[in-house]
Amino acid sequence: MEPAELTSDVDVLVVGAGVTGIYQLYRVRGAGFSVTLLEAGDGVGGTWYWNRYPGARFDSESYTYAYLFSRELFDEWVWREHFAEQPETERYLNHVVDRFALRDHMRFGARVTQAVYDEASGSWIVDASDGTRHRARFLIAATGVLSVLYFPDVPGREDFQGVSHHTGRWPSTPVDFVGKRVAVIGTGSSGVQVVPAIAADVESLTVYQRTANWCTPLNNAPITPDEQARLRADFDAIRATLDASPSGFLHVPHDRATFEDSEEERRAFYEKMWSSPGFAKLISHYTDLLVDPAANAQWCEFLVDKIRTIVKDPATAERLIPKGHRFGEHRPPFVTGYYEVFNRPNVSLVDLKQTPIVRVTSTGIETADGVEEVDIIVWATGFDFGTGALARMGIRGRDGVALEEHWADGPRTFLGIQTTRFPNFFFPGGPHAAAGNNPRYNGDQADFITETLTHVRESGFDTIEVGAAAEEKWTSMVDRGAMSPGSFGESSYYFGTNIPGKPRKYLLNSAGRPRLFKEIARVVETDYAAFRLSRAPERQDGRTPPE
Ligand code: NAP
Repeated sequence: MEPAELTSDVDVLVVGAGVTGIYQLYRVRGAGFSVTLLEAGDGVGGTWYWNRYPGARFDSESYTYAYLFSRELFDEWVWREHFAEQPETERYLNHVVDRFALRDHMRFGARVTQAVYDEASGSWIVDASDGTRHRARFLIAATGVLSVLYFPDVPGREDFQGVSHHTGRWPSTPVDFVGKRVAVIGTGSSGVQVVPAIAADVESLTVYQRTANWCTPLNNAPITPDEQARLRADFDAIRATLDASPSGFLHVPHDRATFEDSEEERRAFYEKMWSSPGFAKLISHYTDLLVDPAANAQWCEFLVDKIRTIVKDPATAERLIPKGHRFGEHRPPFVTGYYEVFNRPNVSLVDLKQTPIVRVTSTGIETADGVEEVDIIVWATGFDFGTGALARMGIRGRDGVALEEHWADGPRTFLGIQTTRFPNFFFPGGPHAAAGNNPRYNGDQADFITETLTHVRESGFDTIEVGAAAEEKWTSMVDRGAMSPGSFGESSYYFGTNIPGKPRKYLLNSAGRPRLFKEIARVVETDYAAFRLSRAPERQDGRTPPE
């Protein structure tokens, strides 16, 4: 295929200016490749650009989520809070892009509509919604796992005449909640952040909950000048810990199991966990929390007590208590004042399992109990996780095979970065990627991809495609691991369960970072034996590979 007119003709085309795409661009530029980055949005940030709803903030510590490749960057950026709010994160990412002169390589408002592999030239021809066409040897889709919105198929959704927004496409102009009647549908991590953030402003707030979640406090706080100084002094140690951590956090694993402690000691430990920051409640918890149902039940009992103590209305408290899944079976949300909000006279909770939504009307939401008139509907109903974006980009590999058909039974990958039949195509931070603090794992993948492209270039080849055996081994490892005790449950969206008709396949890397590191080391030791390196029939340059 010979493109008519190219806007750019580069070594590497990166898609997505989120945390992973920015870093990938930085790395491949640093390795001497020419690069264009296409971004659908009008600004930098990816998830942190689109999810600007009230209350949106990190639930990983700011300095552990941030980039660690530059000490100067770490030193000069002052995070205001341990868990930064969305505007601060968006400012940070813009700062990084400008500081490392990356913006000139980015095209905004350019959503990829089609990406076709041209076998003859061993390159990708990529079309974007702004009418531009690009050619690149390597295509790297850093399109994220939470970028395609999910709206439930509720009759009448389009008929609503009020204001309606999905948390994942929040407008950049402020939404005025003051004195408004508001419905929030969905109580995952996004919904439970929005609810307390708007409750004081609104006239009334109705929370539509289908599945109650095990919410625990985020325990956010401003970073004091002393803490700031300590963070800077500890940069090397922080980086070393994060680099070695299986989940990419600073939290230290505990060394005791639940029933090694007396009831009294357990109670004290649970209180300590309740007051600990964010994901410490998973990582620094009793070692058997996720693997021993009896241990998990003890912690859940403690949480039930907390909910019943905080929420004054017993009937509301009962509805807020999760039934049918253990703590950690779903991705746990971390909250600030969520349960407390239900003590406000203007906030009510609808249990959709008892009274499902019948339809959205032009003026409100109808359940079996009648119509609730509202001015604003917030859809906090989640995303087509993992494969959503990649399946919608018109990606066509060898012989025109469509990625979404290649993955019709679920994603098949090696290291969560490549799949067979799609040479020179990589997807860091996509399916089979992180279970933990995303930027750390996605950064590992971006580093390895950069090394791989460099290896291909230095070997004198120009195409690289993972072999079927490596893909099969990695994919079955992921699928097997997903069934092991302690992993997320099949009712979690990590299995695609929230999307009707989506294959029930695990979408994360169930073995975590240590396995990724091990396999990367093996790839390097075996001189990339898992991959097939070749020359494209029509070479674009004059290099000859070694015999
Ligand atoms: P989510 O966890 O998928 O939650 C979606 C919510 O919508 C669930 O409560 C779900 O109920 C509900 N829902 C779906 N279909 C529905 C229907 N037909 N009727 C009624 N309710 C329905 O999505 P999310 O809250 O946007 O979070 C997604 C992920 O984004 C999180 O797990 C996290 O990884 C990330 N996130 C992170 C942060 C942060 O603090 N850094 C903040 C927000 C999000 P069911 O549970 O019954 O399906």
